[in-house]
Amino acid sequence: MAEYADIIVDISLGKLDRTFQYRIPPALTGQIRPGVLVEVPFGNGSRRIRGYVVEVTGRPEIEESRIKEILAVVDRSVPIESQLIALAAWMRENFGGTMNQALKAVLPVKVKTAGKEKRLIYLLLDPAEGRELLRRLEQKHQTARARLLGALLEQSPLPYETVTGKLNVTAAVIRAMAEKQVIRVETVRTYRNPLDRMKKQEKSVELNPVQRQIADDIIARWRTGDTKPSLIHGITGSGKTEVYMELIAAAVRRGKQAIVLIPEIALTFQTVMRFYSRFGERVSILNSRMSAGERYDQFERAKNGELDVMIGPRSALFSPFPDLGFIIIDEEHEAAYKSETAPCYHARETAVARAGMCGAMVVLGSATPSVESYARAKSGIYRLYEMGQRISDRPLPTVYTVDLREELRRGNRSILSGRLRELMEDRLQRKEQIMLFLNRRGMAGFVSCRSCGHVVKCPHCDVSLNLHNNGRLICHYCGYSMPMVKRCPECGSPYVGGFKAGTQKIEQYIRQQFPQAGVLRMDLDTTRQKDSYEQILSAFANREADILIGTQMIVKGHDFPNVTLVGVLAADLSLHISDYRAAERTFQLLTQAAGRAGRGKRPGEVVIQTYQPEHYAITAAANQDYQTFYGHEMLFREMMHYPPVWNLLVIHIASSQETLANQAADVLQYRTAAMIRQKDPGHGGRPDGARIQVIGPADAAVAKVSDTFRKILYVKAADYQDLVWIKDGLDPELREDALLKKVSVQFDFNPMNGF
Ligand code: ADP
Ligand code: ZN
Ligand code: ZN
Repeated sequence: MAEYADIIVDISLGKLDRTFQYRIPPALTGQIRPGVLVEVPFGNGSRRIRGYVVEVTGRPEIEESRIKEILAVVDRSVPIESQLIALAAWMRENFGGTMNQALKAVLPVKVKTAGKEKRLIYLLLDPAEGRELLRRLEQKHQTARARLLGALLEQSPLPYETVTGKLNVTAAVIRAMAEKQVIRVETVRTYRNPLDRMKKQEKSVELNPVQRQIADDIIARWRTGDTKPSLIHGITGSGKTEVYMELIAAAVRRGKQAIVLIPEIALTFQTVMRFYSRFGERVSILNSRMSAGERYDQFERAKNGELDVMIGPRSALFSPFPDLGFIIIDEEHEAAYKSETAPCYHARETAVARAGMCGAMVVLGSATPSVESYARAKSGIYRLYEMGQRISDRPLPTVYTVDLREELRRGNRSILSGRLRELMEDRLQRKEQIMLFLNRRGMAGFVSCRSCGHVVKCPHCDVSLNLHNNGRLICHYCGYSMPMVKRCPECGSPYVGGFKAGTQKIEQYIRQQFPQAGVLRMDLDTTRQKDSYEQILSAFANREADILIGTQMIVKGHDFPNVTLVGVLAADLSLHISDYRAAERTFQLLTQAAGRAGRGKRPGEVVIQTYQPEHYAITAAANQDYQTFYGHEMLFREMMHYPPVWNLLVIHIASSQETLANQAADVLQYRTAAMIRQKDPGHGGRPDGARIQVIGPADAAVAKVSDTFRKILYVKAADYQDLVWIKDGLDPELREDALLKKVSVQFDFNPMNGF
């Protein structure tokens, strides 16, 4: 029984955790939900003030008799804050965490900004009244007032400084006219514009028939209120970005705004420039290098109607646009769209929720859609659009797969296969550029056999063991350890080792092998400094180097027309990360890497070096064949009950005391199993066909971080709402149970990084 409402009375103070509890009078039951603007009595004098409902509960927090009652619901125009608070409540419900954490994610905390204050003087009379008054002032020889009024009749508002300066009107006269309600003085803030110094490049393209048809179809549906999310599956270079811009233009023509989410790493100068060229001053960006003040300024500009388009990573989703038309999510498969701190929301699901609240449409785009999104598109939850051709029919690159085991058999133990070396020499001679990509994701310290491809795994956990400096192989799931093997346990070959080559080692090797070539390296080490990322990319774009070596950073979204060869040095590295998405990640990275070759007029070639040339993620990527990959991957997900076929909830338990963490994990396991038994008596959570299963507890992948012990519990369910139900059932226990209160517990729904 929901009887009380927690109310926040002043968002602008940024004290989002300061809420006050009020009773909901019977007459208002049903109208009170998160986001609703209400009037409440406040303070000792019970002054009537406004506040937002953030949460509705059945528990009084203070003595019942001291709780005042909500006076009324303010139901005039719904401020954007209402919508964002309602969204926070939705995020809390569907992804866990506290309401306060959710509010902090959606409402930017107010910070002192460097925005400039500017005073403006507005005329409050209509022109006829104004002219009449002007005549009377002139008659009475009130010349200063007449001067001001005359100027305002020509132009309103006028800057305060112009009036006191050029018009020579004193502050006293201004005050007197303001008191008579003839004019109004208003202080406005002007905010920093991060794109201030950009120059527009006029270059508009005419959409080709495929782009035209997709844009027209989406716009037509959007205009009639058919706002089912759309997924554009278009290979790299097929012209998706041009379609996005066409949609945005349609929204802007109708006075609406758009949010464009882009993974931070792809938020390059080139991309921003394209939007700026089309929408000019009305575009702004957000990125993680901006200060809190700069970010706040951009949110204020969005709210004040200064902007039509906001481009940025995940958090740009909460731009307070009053009348949103589209939310576009480019590269929708990226893991960066999932928050790793509470609330662990996914921007895609949250975008759909926000769009639903304001009648906007979500448009997703990717060359390699996530298996989740593609499955939804196939089942009709999203509308699917395919773009299978590159612009002006530039051919896709030719891909060669090289079996590294075969290379070893031929006596080649270097990191370059014969084929890749040959092609590199050819490109250097022709003065074309080369990208070498080291697919290095997560923990890549595993040990494998270079003769047969066998990877040394933990006998208990089926994940790869990691080679540590002390010469031992260690399991990061269960702690099992063993001495480093001298021979392959599978085939007896002595060629076992860790794949130790980092980008730095590779750079050294390449410089030594190709002394005449200019080499650049891009990885976490070389991009630590501000702007170094852009510097490396622009140096390469300006052809100051022949070879660019890098990690996954280099495969995202950049357009280098002179690159005609891409080498993937060890394609399997990401196949061995302990994550059910390992194959999907590998496919995505390889497809993107291949997409870097042949962006210009000359066709490109790609060499994929691998120990597992027969793996479906690798063969499908080599053939640029999304459908085949998707088919295989869905079979695997179905067999293993992984998302999107089922849903996964990870419950993280952390404590500085190991015994507490262990006990809490056991208690949560027990409670969860009990809930499942109650709902599904036939199975009781056993993994034998039940619709909900609980697995664990186990140590987290990194079981101990800075003296905090971490345990995890998995709950799998066919139906996402069953997982929400589990979370809702456990939530009160987390607050009230003596043991559980002592540990920190976090829910992560359908996690994107490891599990
Ligand atoms: P995607 O977003 O799918 O990778 P882009 O929209 O970036 O594709 O298009 C790839 C390249 O082709 C860009 O340089 C873009 O300016 C150009 N392009 C896109 N559409 C057209 C078009 N209709 N006519 C000419 N050039 C186009
Ligand atoms: Zn072997
Ligand atoms: Zn293990």
